[in-house]
Amino acid sequence: MELNTTTQLEQGVAPKRDLAISVEDLYMSFGSNTVLKGISFSARKGDVISIIGPSGSGKSTFLRCTNLLEIPDSGNLVINQEKIDFGKKSEKPRKKKRLPVSQKKVDRIRTQLGMVFQHFNLWSHMTVLENIMEAPVHVLKRNKDEVRDMAMDILDKVGIADRANYYPCNLSGGQQQRAAIARALAMEPDVMLFDEPTSALDPELVGEVLQVIRKLADEGRTMIMTTHEMDFAKQVSSQVLFFDNGIIEEQGKPDKIFVTPESKRCREFLSHFMG
Ligand code: ADP
Ligand code: MG
Repeated sequence: MELNTTTQLEQGVAPKRDLAISVEDLYMSFGSNTVLKGISFSARKGDVISIIGPSGSGKSTFLRCTNLLEIPDSGNLVINQEKIDFGKKSEKPRKKKRLPVSQKKVDRIRTQLGMVFQHFNLWSHMTVLENIMEAPVHVLKRNKDEVRDMAMDILDKVGIADRANYYPCNLSGGQQQRAAIARALAMEPDVMLFDEPTSALDPELVGEVLQVIRKLADEGRTMIMTTHEMDFAKQVSSQVLFFDNGIIEEQGKPDKIFVTPESKRCREFLSHFMG
C-alpha cells in the first residue's frame, strides 16, 4: 500500500480524493479552427498552476472550457470527483455543441469555480459591496446580513474595505481587480481561475493584485492562472504548463520550466521575457 502511494506520487498521479480538477484529452474548436488539441492534466487540492504561452495558444479557451463557458468538442473534465464526459474525439468537429449534463449540474459546478477575468467584469451599476453580495444572496440564497459581514471581511482581506460603497468606475484598475477577486471568493469556490488578472493594469498597479493572489496561494487555495508575469509564476506556482498551438508543449515545476526547459518553443517563448 505504502509502495503504491509512493509510486503514485513519483509519477505525479494524485490519489483520487486529493484531486481538485482533472482534464483528459480535451478538444475544442471554433468552426474549423481547432484551438485545443488534446489537453490533459490534473491539479491536486492546494496546487497553484500557472499557464504560460504565446497569445492565441488556447490559454483563455482552456480556462473557459474548465468553467463550462465554452463547451469542448470531446474529452472529459472532473471537478471535485464529479465527471463531465464530452464524448470521444470524432474526425469532424461537431456542428452543434451540447452539454452532456443538466443545467443544474453546470450551475453546481460553476459555483465551485471562481473566475477572475482580465477586464474585471464587475457590474457597473452596482457598488463593490453589491457586486460581491449578488451571487451569494441570489444564487446561493444565503442570508443577506451574514453575506454582508462576510463580504466586508473579504474586502478587508483584499485591502479595499474602505471602497465598499464605491461604484467600479470610481476605482483604480487595481482596486477593481481586487473587488473582482473578492466577488469570486465570496462564493467560497474550491478552485480559483484567473485569466491574465494583471494584463489590463498600469504597471504600478500590478503589484497590489499579485500580492492578493500570493496571499491566496499561501493560504493553500487551489488556483489555475494564465499569466505573463513570469517572475511571479516562478515564485508561486507548484506546476507550470507551457501552452503552444493548442497543446501542452511542456509542463513541470517552475524551476524546470523557467531554468532548464526542454522544449525549443518554450525556450524561445521565455527568451522574450529575459531582461
Ligand atoms: P490565448 O488566451 O492563449 O491568447 P485564446 O484561447 O484566447 O488564446 O484563443 C485561441 C484561439 O481561439 C485564437 O485563434 C482565437 O482567435 C480563437 N478564439 C478564441 N475565442 C474565440 C471565439 N469566441 N470565437 C472564435 N474564435 C475564438
Ligand atoms: Mg487569453
